[in-house]
Amino acid sequence: MQLLDGKKAGQAIREEIRLQVAQRLSEGKKQPHLAAILIGHNGASATYVGAKVKACEEAGILSTLLHYESDLPEHTLLEKIESLNNDPDIDGILVQLPLPKHIRESAVIHAIEPSKDVDGFHPVNQGLLMQGQPGFIPATPYGIQLLLQHYQIETAGKEAVVIGRSNIVGRPMSVLLSQPGPVGNCTVTLCHSKTTDLAGHIRRADIVVAALGQPDFVQANMIKPGAVVIDVGITRVENPTKKSGFELKGDVDYTNVSPLCNWITPVPGGVGPMTIAALLKNTLQACQQKDT
Ligand code: NAD
Repeated sequence: MQLLDGKKAGQAIREEIRLQVAQRLSEGKKQPHLAAILIGHNGASATYVGAKVKACEEAGILSTLLHYESDLPEHTLLEKIESLNNDPDIDGILVQLPLPKHIRESAVIHAIEPSKDVDGFHPVNQGLLMQGQPGFIPATPYGIQLLLQHYQIETAGKEAVVIGRSNIVGRPMSVLLSQPGPVGNCTVTLCHSKTTDLAGHIRRADIVVAALGQPDFVQANMIKPGAVVIDVGITRVENPTKKSGFELKGDVDYTNVSPLCNWITPVPGGVGPMTIAALLKNTLQACQQKDT
């Protein structure tokens, strides 16, 4: 078993970005600038946004964190996004999900100018992805693509099973794996909560991407020996022995699955750091697009 180490691969990508940003600055070009919006006091969301802002700083990307109370009216948020859309200094905008119930996620995603949509959630970017055209790829599937590329995992002709069909992880992941080109050319099965004989599908897979958000769901008896296993899930599970009072669990039973795999991502330290690296890549790309 070999580790798909997202910390290491993510660090290497972030270092490349840092050098590219430094090069831009030495040429007198604009410094990339990300605006991150956080609403409310969800601990996990605050941690993710904090990690993104810190990674920006380390790579030389400016970041502005806008933190609002959870009773922020939807129209005020949409106005804020509009002003960021019109601000020439802002290259990328991300709104950390999930949102409070009174705010429509789709209205917020639609409000972000596609050329600043570094999370790749806007229908324009998702449409471009479907058509295999350049655009912003959602950060988590993009990060997984970069991780597979970093470790030179052969994907062409392989059977891939993606578990979970969300617009931000599972569905775009299935599109990336099936498209022509490097880290593609797989035959993809997209599984979800209504799939029958899920274990049977997973057992045939050379590459498994688990993105359902159910701790330890993927068990050793579902895995084809030699498979590549990507664990996207992050669930906070109470654990009084930990200082924080919780531990992070992936969707894969790592202890029993890992001995069977050729490659596997750990949780934490697998897909999470790659998501951040991919977000930084998208932010740099958003800034580069403005160069004339
Ligand atoms: P989601 O809740 O939007 O989607 C979950 C999907 O899993 C759904 O499509 C559903 O059909 C499917 N599903 C649920 N139960 C199932 C079951 N028993 N069998 C088969 N399919 C089932 O979640 P999401 O936003 O796609 O996130 C999935 C997981 O990935 C979560 O744990 C989330 O925290 C994690 N995540 C991690 C990162 C990262 O950077 N590592 C980024 C995004 C999401």
